[in-house]
Amino acid sequence: MRVLVINSGSSSIKYQLLDPDTGAVAASGQVSRIGEPVAPGTPSVEHDSDGHTLEHHGAIKDHAAGLRVVFDLFARSGHDLTAEGLRAVGHRVVHGGEVFYAPTLITDAVVRSIDELSALAPLHNPANVVGIESARALLPGVPQVAVFDTAFFHGLPDAAKTYAIDAKVAAAHGIRRYGFHGTSHEYVSGRVADVLGRKPEELNQIVLHLGNGASASAIRAGRAVDTSMGLTPLEGLVMGTRSGDIDPGIIPHLMRTAGLGIDAIDDLLNRNSGIKGLSGVNDFRELQGLIDSGDTAARLAYDVYIHRLRHYIGAYLVELGRVDAITFTAGVGENSPQVRADALADLSGFGITVDPDRNTAKDRAARLISPRGAQIPVLVVPTNEELAIARAAAALVA
Ligand code: AMP
Repeated sequence: MRVLVINSGSSSIKYQLLDPDTGAVAASGQVSRIGEPVAPGTPSVEHDSDGHTLEHHGAIKDHAAGLRVVFDLFARSGHDLTAEGLRAVGHRVVHGGEVFYAPTLITDAVVRSIDELSALAPLHNPANVVGIESARALLPGVPQVAVFDTAFFHGLPDAAKTYAIDAKVAAAHGIRRYGFHGTSHEYVSGRVADVLGRKPEELNQIVLHLGNGASASAIRAGRAVDTSMGLTPLEGLVMGTRSGDIDPGIIPHLMRTAGLGIDAIDDLLNRNSGIKGLSGVNDFRELQGLIDSGDTAARLAYDVYIHRLRHYIGAYLVELGRVDAITFTAGVGENSPQVRADALADLSGFGITVDPDRNTAKDRAARLISPRGAQIPVLVVPTNEELAIARAAAALVA
């Protein structure tokens, strides 16, 4: 029996139908540009099943309409979801606040709580709620489970999760470091233990999730003790379009001197900063192309990206004291040997080296890229948030 995993964004829905025991994916796809016009010839839904791609053309009014099209495409590709006997539907939910710290069976009260947390994640939680409501309406008999991006970081030590601002203001507004990408950090750190033949409780790890969004985590004996994202997914590493760490004084400075309002600043820091703000492109492959053509702005963007990444690696080495594995994952982390080599260059004094042949090998599997017998193993581990969500949902309903 399979699990349907749904990841609803503000204008998109990504989904997978998979077997949580084997990881085999029966079908997957994406609804794009929800609520927006769609150019002729551009599919609004792409659905992959058994090596075939089905497309839907035409605008998608809202998430409920998008899911109805998806269910129809499932049926056309031989999977009637209402008759399939699904084990569960697993929903990725971005912000669990202080309320949710484990996979949670969805009830009306749970949906209300997720909605109430929208103040902390205004771009994400409302979309998650709409995805959940639509799936519940279409599959009334199937248990639905919410898996929270913040959950793995719920137990961060007080010193790591507390911002040094007026404690009363922070308490009144739920301001603390929550952390995100938790499903990925937890899944990847578990896979690292498998690859090394050790138990997660025996290992201190640094995990570097470098995708369009990017975050680092420090994990002691299987529990997260620090992470680079904070109240929102804006803090920390340089990302595709997000600034990561900046002096908070920049915000009032821009309000006073550039006359920017809060929405313009939100837009600047979330959508027009990071790699894109510095170079004009947010895709790492395009950035590398620009660097190869001698573009100095692209070079600077890359250097800032690596500088910030090394800053966090250094911080977490000290924080953990003993590190048993450093792991790269997500789009950039899995695919850019250059980033991996530069992030860990000249650290042999700390017992950290990357083997050039292993690092550049064309291999999609979880693997070591440090030399044989290295003091600190360095790994590349493909993340798989859908599988982690499917497993969490299946385990909860079992
Ligand atoms: P994700 O958010 O995990 O899907 O990662 C997206 C990022 O991974 C984008 O910036 C892509 O440019 C980057 N990426 C994907 N493939 C490669 C590659 N072969 N080399 C460098 N970056 C890549």
